Amino acid sequence: MGDPLNDRVNAAEALGLVARAAGPYLDALPDLPVRDAAHAHLLDDLDGPLPESGDGAVAAVAELLRVGVPAATHSSGPRFFHLVVGGATPAAQAADWVVSLLDQAGGVWLSSPLAARAEAVVLRWLKELFGLPGGYGGVLTSGATLANLVGLACARSWWARQHGVDVVADGLAGLPRMPVFASGYLHSSTRKSLQVLGLGRDHVRTPTRDDAGRLDVAALDRELADAGPAVLVGTAGEVNAGDYDPLDEMADVARRHGAWLHVDGAFGLFAALSPRTAHLVRGVGRADSVAADGHKWLNAPYDSGFAFVRDRDLLARTFGNGLAPYLPEPDGESVNSNTLSPESARRARALPIWAALRAYGREGHRAMVERHLDLVLRLGRRIAESPDLELLAPITLFVVCFRYRPPGVPDDELDGLNRRLGEALVEDARVYAGTTVYRGVVALRPAIVNWRTTEPDVDLLVTVVRELGARLARRRSGGASG
Ligand SMILES: *Cc1c(COP(=O)(O)O)cnc(C)c1O
Repeated sequence: MGDPLNDRVNAAEALGLVARAAGPYLDALPDLPVRDAAHAHLLDDLDGPLPESGDGAVAAVAELLRVGVPAATHSSGPRFFHLVVGGATPAAQAADWVVSLLDQAGGVWLSSPLAARAEAVVLRWLKELFGLPGGYGGVLTSGATLANLVGLACARSWWARQHGVDVVADGLAGLPRMPVFASGYLHSSTRKSLQVLGLGRDHVRTPTRDDAGRLDVAALDRELADAGPAVLVGTAGEVNAGDYDPLDEMADVARRHGAWLHVDGAFGLFAALSPRTAHLVRGVGRADSVAADGHKWLNAPYDSGFAFVRDRDLLARTFGNGLAPYLPEPDGESVNSNTLSPESARRARALPIWAALRAYGREGHRAMVERHLDLVLRLGRRIAESPDLELLAPITLFVVCFRYRPPGVPDDELDGLNRRLGEALVEDARVYAGTTVYRGVVALRPAIVNWRTTEPDVDLLVTVVRELGARLARRRSGGASG
């Protein structure tokens, strides 16, 4: 086949293959197991020597569908409760195809006013959705990890300036270590951001008041008194049990000591959408920077995240390199997002978010959030009613932290049993859930965050956990007596 110039008439035909596969796949998705090990061998078909002349677009895409559809992890379906993984709402998923169709070179206004304008609009809409101040600068990222990095890079610029240093131009040389404070809820992605920024992964100070990692605000206040300019990281929604740092109190402490407050609200920022949970994020609008994900609770397709920074000039100073004089000057309408994040060129990441907000609005997203809150309460009730299940943390949001604890199994065997149960759940794949260590014990922590999930899916989680748990517990007692 060779040169794609000879193949171009087939682009629409290849897209048609994908479109024709979409209907049956999406119709089947609610009933598929999360993953089907029987199809794992298909992955070998991806492999082989580098093709010399090639098969052409239609054959290549047909092959990718033949392998990919059955071998994919169906995490976009309703029963992937592992990690925190959202699905893709119909509007967002279709708009993601538009991104591919139009193939915009986002990042610079002159190469895509469409991408730039859509990004400006969705950032404004998102600020309204979360009740954040309209004056915040913002940028779309690939996820909360990069959004945390954006916020912390701005914090670093601010902090260096307190020491009379322009870190963007001159780097960190000669500066002391930047003091960073957080609770035990700190997500590993913030440590990764600190390591990338040259601030050190292992020097976060964590004044906590219990083994769950809750913040000791009084101790934080004391430690800040002689820390000099410092950065606080608040977590809005931690991954083990969905709990929140007291953001409003952290904002008080930050103001008292002139510190920077960054909030990681990867999924937890969406608590602002419902009056039932809005109190959890009270004070977030006082933060200097805020990070969140689109591919979790917004149910935008991967990859999708966003960062907001109170001082929009600082954001542009931190990421603009001033080294490409052929680029236009940024102004209100013609934003160059390549000056606002570590990325330069990127896809038109705003379009799926735009379509989701246009399609479902504030009301629709609130309804989705509240459905998840209801489903989680249902799951909590089912756990409370089951004599062999034990809830380990209060339910705050959409994460339920619990373990399998059948009568008669000694305490010191429960960690091993639950760890094997986590592995068995993934192998079984009717539902996916994984384990964590919470307050020193191995626990399951399903997160219900997919727009497709309904009551039977949650009930099946309980059924499968108890069924597999009982089998493992029997095997254990069989082993003990045999
Ligand atoms: C998921 C998550 C992140 C990282 O987000 P990515 O989308 O994986 O980059 C950061 N913080 C918290 C609290 C998270 O749950």
